[in-house]
Amino acid sequence: MPERRYWNEEMETIDPDRLWKLEDERLRWQLRWVWERSSFYRRKFEEAGIDPLRIGRDTLQSLPFTVKEEIRRTQEEYPPLGGHACVALHEVVRIHASSGTTGKPTLVGLTEADSRTWNEILARFFWATGVRPGTRVWLAVTLGWYIAGLSFYEALREIRATVYPSGTMEASRTFNILRRAGVDYMVSSPTFVNYLTNVARERLGIDPASFGLKVMALGGEPGAGVPQVRQQIEETWRCKVYDAMGTADFAPILWTECEAQAGMHFIGQGFVIAEFIDPETAQPIEPREGMLAELVYTAIHRECVPLIRFRIGDLVRIEGIGKCECGRTGIRIRCVGRVDDMFIVRGVNVFPSAVADVIASFRPRVTGEFQIRLPARGFPIEPPVPVIVELGPDPGDPVKLKKDLEEAIRAQLIFRANVQLVPYGELAPTGAMKRQVIVRGE
Ligand SMILES: [Zn+2]
Repeated sequence: MPERRYWNEEMETIDPDRLWKLEDERLRWQLRWVWERSSFYRRKFEEAGIDPLRIGRDTLQSLPFTVKEEIRRTQEEYPPLGGHACVALHEVVRIHASSGTTGKPTLVGLTEADSRTWNEILARFFWATGVRPGTRVWLAVTLGWYIAGLSFYEALREIRATVYPSGTMEASRTFNILRRAGVDYMVSSPTFVNYLTNVARERLGIDPASFGLKVMALGGEPGAGVPQVRQQIEETWRCKVYDAMGTADFAPILWTECEAQAGMHFIGQGFVIAEFIDPETAQPIEPREGMLAELVYTAIHRECVPLIRFRIGDLVRIEGIGKCECGRTGIRIRCVGRVDDMFIVRGVNVFPSAVADVIASFRPRVTGEFQIRLPARGFPIEPPVPVIVELGPDPGDPVKLKKDLEEAIRAQLIFRANVQLVPYGELAPTGAMKRQVIVRGE
């Protein structure tokens, strides 16, 4: 039997016209669903003077945006899930909580049908990154309230992979088990992989490459899409690294790289509409290669907590709009960063992921760990911007290193930095899934 190339060939290679029709049909269903069942959306549409039952795919853009702050507020007003919830609580089979890095965590509910939708999208992701029946998968993500753990497990069961539910605890015990059982594939976040690398090398004297991993799929933050960061992980673990991205409010993964690694494909066909808007004017834009855009998502197949035109706050670069060499038709992007994390120095937009790339190019003089210190929100950022950089195992002359880093940042990112070097190990990852690279004053 020939190797099955896609988890869902029909959806992953669908042509744009057919997809548009499917989106139109499901969007109309979804808008009726929220109109009839959600007090939050009923009020929102009434205030905007819009009849959602007249809206289709080609008029979607006339609906107002939904933002995270509204979700937080409606969850306080109508606990636990908020006024956008469309089903009774006894129909909810699972509740997850977002990590809450930018405020109080929000809750996400799933019905049985919603949870099957997540299984389907996640199976597309795992299949595209090489998981097959019997693949030994190391689940190095938080198992618990966080959306990824349990959902990943369920999708991997669907594929009949062999799951190692290690979670993020007890690295040394996990390493021992991996030695006995062998491992093919790991799913995690770049920050957690850095932590594992540190524990293996520094504390236990183990070469991470000795585990024999073939593939890592990393999400939760933009790291795996930053060329220097990806290269470092690939060299250290001697495996292929795939970049993936999702959001608690829609699905744990909605974008993934394929074996061509030419940007992350959209894989939520039939369940979510991804729109692109201009981050400054908030006007819809027709995606073109190389363009910078902000993502807006609309659920079209969600029972419990559907969101319409949700401004998620992710900035992306469009990498490809045509059919990929893998045959998938899902548009391809690279995540540039969170809109919230972007800062402006004298008119120049700077993303932490770009700073990460410049700093990581100085390895092994640095480790790649860094922090950017900014004033409190609302205060102007005056150069030089303090950038704290951790010395690597082979730093050379620190005076020259500081000068070289400042020059590279100036040349490549067009802002003036004041690099402060800190000893090796001072910024070492602590075992969390994400790292905070921007530290703001109070
Ligand atoms: Zn592809």
